[in-house]
Amino acid sequence: MVSAPTPDVNAPRDLNPMRERIVSQARAVRLRLVKWYKSAGRDLPWRHTRDPYAILVSEVMLQQTQVATVIPYFARFLSRFPTAEALASAPESDVMALWSGLGYYRRARMLQGAAQALVREHGGKFPREMAAIRALPGIGQYTAGAVASFAYDAAEAVVDANVARVLARVFCYDKPPDDSAGRARIWEWARGLLPPGGARVHNNALMELGALVCRPEVPRCADCPLGNVCLARSFGKVSEIPVPKKKQERLVVSAAGILLEYRGKYLVRPVPKGNWHDGMWEFPQERVPDGIAPREVAASLAREALKHGEQLRLFAELAYTVTRHRVTLSVFKGAGNPGRIPDGVVGGQWLTLEKIGALPLGSPQKRIVNLLRRDSELPFES
Ligand code: SF4
Repeated sequence: MVSAPTPDVNAPRDLNPMRERIVSQARAVRLRLVKWYKSAGRDLPWRHTRDPYAILVSEVMLQQTQVATVIPYFARFLSRFPTAEALASAPESDVMALWSGLGYYRRARMLQGAAQALVREHGGKFPREMAAIRALPGIGQYTAGAVASFAYDAAEAVVDANVARVLARVFCYDKPPDDSAGRARIWEWARGLLPPGGARVHNNALMELGALVCRPEVPRCADCPLGNVCLARSFGKVSEIPVPKKKQERLVVSAAGILLEYRGKYLVRPVPKGNWHDGMWEFPQERVPDGIAPREVAASLAREALKHGEQLRLFAELAYTVTRHRVTLSVFKGAGNPGRIPDGVVGGQWLTLEKIGALPLGSPQKRIVNLLRRDSELPFES
């Protein structure tokens, strides 16, 4: 029987002996967890495969994205790129087009980089050793552990946000679990609970518990298979754990973009290297330095591509968030001069809206295309 001590919630306490007791009872904890998972776990497409490449694709897609959103993307992506070789040799624009709408586009480039390294360094065959998996570009401890345990059943711990929350509560960790000290404690407990065989099911079960039962806001402790060992529950601390990390300050960014039109064609360009949405396309835009008006930046960007004597007018203002930046993009429209592409618009092309809509575009650019399609010049859009 696995159970936590009956605590005096008001007494000063040293939690470490209680935490060690949970680890010493790891076998019983695992049995309860896996029994629950076999009856309540979801049937998700990536749980049917042992192909490490397909598992890698699912893991990269699932970073920062909901399961329901990922399911159709996962099927389409694997149907177009069924192997690391297929992904490695594809044009980046094809990869981006299939990723379009999933967001966090850096992930797509990293995934293709990992596929290219697999082909270059391993002949397209996925390595089995953790060190070799981790050496692939863009793959950290979590993703490497997920691939090794889900594909090969290797005894590797996997700690995503769901697992970190479950373990922070089970072990009543009353500090932020996502700073470096917190991460070290959580990984240590994850390894302490790991079975010598069967890590694939165990890790899936722990992740699933966080996704379905040990929810961030309203955990369903009454239905939890770990309810009788969970220290946060015993001490009435569930609503306080995990302890949030101090919030990073949000940075405010202003940008100006141009919509130059000539007979149904608009000037667009590949997003300059190193910028957000690198690898996609955009209507030309620039950051607005402090003290400068967005209209001035737009006029300087448009230059000779603006029809002689034409004035730019505000078409829309879009507000959106990228990483920890809150961006306000002021978009100015004017009649274009199709013979000219300004020096600052490298790789620029005049294309119809239909062709632009088929390019890989980030969400803000898609919103602009939709506004143009509606052909209603809204003064403000957020
Ligand atoms: Fe989470 Fe509650 Fe289960 Fe503890 S008992 S692991 S807080 S759901």
